[in-house]
Amino acid sequence: MPRPISVRIDPSALAHNFAQVSHRAQQAYAGHGLVPPRFWAVIKANAYGHGIAPAVHAFQAADGLAMLDLHEAIQCREQGWTKPLLLLEGIFSAADAELAAHYGLTIVVHTAEQLQWLQHSKLSQPLPAFIKLNTGMQRLGFDASDFATAFQQAKALQQQATLGDLGVMTHFARADEDPSTTQQQMAHFNQYAAPHSSWQSVGNSAATLNTDFPQWLQPNVQYWLRPGICLYGSSPFIDLPAETLHLQPAQTLEAELIAVQHLKAGDQVGYGHTFTATQSMRLGVVACGYADGYPRHAPNGTPVVVGGIRTQLVGRVSMDMLTVDLSAIPHAQVGTKVVLWGHGGPSVDEVAQASGTLGYELLCAVAPRVPRFVLAEENHEK
Ligand SMILES: *Cc1c(COP(=O)(O)O)cnc(C)c1O
Repeated sequence: MPRPISVRIDPSALAHNFAQVSHRAQQAYAGHGLVPPRFWAVIKANAYGHGIAPAVHAFQAADGLAMLDLHEAIQCREQGWTKPLLLLEGIFSAADAELAAHYGLTIVVHTAEQLQWLQHSKLSQPLPAFIKLNTGMQRLGFDASDFATAFQQAKALQQQATLGDLGVMTHFARADEDPSTTQQQMAHFNQYAAPHSSWQSVGNSAATLNTDFPQWLQPNVQYWLRPGICLYGSSPFIDLPAETLHLQPAQTLEAELIAVQHLKAGDQVGYGHTFTATQSMRLGVVACGYADGYPRHAPNGTPVVVGGIRTQLVGRVSMDMLTVDLSAIPHAQVGTKVVLWGHGGPSVDEVAQASGTLGYELLCAVAPRVPRFVLAEENHEK
């Protein structure tokens, strides 16, 4: 028998989350008299650890899918996705342009080198492209002073049928926590990028879910929003749990107890003896460790559900195991189910917060050695 640990992916939760998020944004945009937004469902990093294939099927209602890796885009085409696919970092070499054209991809152009590679390309079909403005994140995008020139060069490439439709794009640095920064970034975008095209892409999950965001947008613009994390049932906001946004967990990491220890007062647990029993207690040993993607920094007290009852981690997480307090769970024994996060367990955001990280990192990091099961789509048992 394989080690008793698995990760379960629920496509119905992915589909539910997309419907929830898109409905919320549609309402907010209608309330501000804006054009109904369209949606790139972001599926980079193997769909935030959920797998490309289930994501492609669950996000059928999206207008397009966005990712970084060419091979993930190709997988989408192989799964039968015929709508747009966006390479969020564009091409990494001249040769990528031909492949992108072959698979009918849309690209981001964010740097002068990419324009040069495109100048030397003879493509089977023009590539639709978003020209990206750096509005203050200082990561990808042309600065305001270079943007008009870059857009002119893109137009020249459009004339020679290397590029197709041209849009404009930016990315927000603090949409999850500081509206005034987003407002400034949007003002910058409206000034320098928006005049070039009414096909515009802004907005990660935090901006998509923020119902105040549309007040900084312009009428008669076709916005393509780019939600990622919220589609996977994790909240982009530190103070707003996913369930208050009506999001459902789509990834459940579960394992079993493989041993039970009986401690007496004073016994110390695990590497570094970071937990000391204050009274006699039962301790469960779970078949999940940091080599499975569970965060090693999860401290004593991190929530976990054992046999349907919420309890806590005690002692340091080791490579293949972690240990939990069974004081309140007398029925727990070898073979009892443990939910580390997801459906029937703590939320991934709770575990992340306890461990000083984000749901993003945990969802993406489940190790390849953990067997993955995709639930049947009709499974609506919640
Ligand atoms: C990852 C990413 C997104 C999605 O961000 P979330 O916070 O997961 O919603 C959107 N746009 C770009 C450019 C990204 O890289």
